[in-house]
Amino acid sequence: MNTAKQTQAMKILRTVMKSLRRCESWILPAITVFALLLTGCGERTAPLIEIEGPTMGTYYSVKVARPPAGMNAETLKRQVESALNEVIAELSTYDPTSELSRLNRNPSTDWIPLSPNLHAVIAEGQRIAALTDGAFDITIGPLVNLWGFGPEARPEALPTEAEIQAAQARVGWRKLELRVAPPAVRKARGDLYIDLSALGEGVGADRVSAGLEASGVDHYMIAVAGTIRAKGRNAKNQPWAIAIEEPLPDQRTVHRIVPVSDRAISTSGDYRNFFVKDGKRYSHEIDPSTGAPIERNLGSATVIGDRAMVVDGLATAFMVLGETRGPALAASQGLAAYFIVRDGDVPRGFGSPAFEDDLARSHQP
Ligand code: FAD
Repeated sequence: MNTAKQTQAMKILRTVMKSLRRCESWILPAITVFALLLTGCGERTAPLIEIEGPTMGTYYSVKVARPPAGMNAETLKRQVESALNEVIAELSTYDPTSELSRLNRNPSTDWIPLSPNLHAVIAEGQRIAALTDGAFDITIGPLVNLWGFGPEARPEALPTEAEIQAAQARVGWRKLELRVAPPAVRKARGDLYIDLSALGEGVGADRVSAGLEASGVDHYMIAVAGTIRAKGRNAKNQPWAIAIEEPLPDQRTVHRIVPVSDRAISTSGDYRNFFVKDGKRYSHEIDPSTGAPIERNLGSATVIGDRAMVVDGLATAFMVLGETRGPALAASQGLAAYFIVRDGDVPRGFGSPAFEDDLARSHQP
């Protein structure tokens, strides 16, 4: 478990929450997104429960406005953390006992049974892989680990070309075959290693959302790091508002604020999770075609849609595709995406046609 990363995320979260609780506004810092109530200081008009805590090597935050009778911070926290722990038990490569870790250790090239939940996430990974012609690839694990962005400690030296090629030979989304009934997966090589980190935060937000709705919660905002799912309105009876930040590693500056109700939004970027070696920055998003961290002018990609798992994966996929192929795919597929490109002193942001349409609709009364 990357405790340094978790401690840093919690430290940022606590500092900002503390400073902003003095007024009614709040800011939720995330890896690449932070959200805020737009209305400034003033009286809250409806009851609000707010909880936060560590999860998945990062943190979560949940706000419930107008909670149903009997719900309080303690019961909410228990419910939310139980849902997130379920997702960890299914999808974590950091937990050796998870279903995914057991699948990764299984050297069989026969059909391996899967739980319906793990099957659904792998299927979504395969769908995005096909959509992006393999730029997004959930078999990327050996390369993620080689570059030190997985559960193992980062080696002192950069990987050699031979190590990269050896890891690349174990990567390829077409080496995985899925069966629906009964749910199962078949690996073309026994040493494939699936990494669902690009989808897992979204899965967590969707799982928490389903639980809250089953409990009669109509107004909530769930953030699992940079992936957010919101429904209804905030305590001031306004749409939940999310700030997309400038893709700058050393500061947190709002680039653009977007209202989000009954939607999910996720941002991926190359400016929070990276390391620097000999003056060069290496990001955690890996290009399967080179076997190396992406080198892009694209600082961040934000995606809006119905399901958090889908927008979480697409945001990573757009980062890997980069500033030319990403926007082209968003336009051709009608995906609501916002890109921030560093091609001058000031980062330049632009939305796909579907992104601007989505926002125009959400501004309507
Ligand atoms: P995103 O952009 O959403 O995802 C980037 C990640 O996707 C990369 O870090 C890599 O893992 C993967 N990736 C890279 N390139 C590609 C590609 N081309 N195609 C597809 N995927 C790619 N971290 C810890 O330090 N400790 C933990 O205990 C821990 N537990 C976790 C449990 C779960 C269930 C999950 C899902 C993740 C966990 N993590 C943990 C990982 C950590 O939270 C990740 O940093 C995070 O999931 C990546 O999300 P992001 O928003 O930073 O980036």
